[in-house]
Amino acid sequence: MPSIRGSIDIAIEKCKGCELCVVACPQESLQMAKEINKQGYHYAVLLEDNCTGCTNCALVCPDAVITVFREDKKTKERIPVAEISKVTSDITIKVN
Ligand code: SF4
Ligand code: SF4
Repeated sequence: MPSIRGSIDIAIEKCKGCELCVVACPQESLQMAKEINKQGYHYAVLLEDNCTGCTNCALVCPDAVITVFREDKKTKERIPVAEISKVTSDITIKVN
């Protein structure tokens, strides 16, 4: 079990199925779903409970659909650490 617990949210309806996040994840936590989204793409899903919140997946996602969280050890609160937005104009990358 990793010492830092992380988790991610994937906006699956916006995923284009490029698989870059799957390759970039050092924990091998991500896989492509067998199901397809409304755009017709297989989307990425978090399968393993071993995410460290490293942010790799969010940084490589060309469609900026992944938000990464790390868990506060005391409160168990999910704290956002990487959120990419505005990819169609001036890109904003925020890594805490
Ligand atoms: S934050 Fe890091 S460990 Fe967690 S799913 Fe993304 S690439 Fe994998
Ligand atoms: S990198 Fe982004 S668009 Fe590509 S499969 Fe992962 S979540 Fe989907």
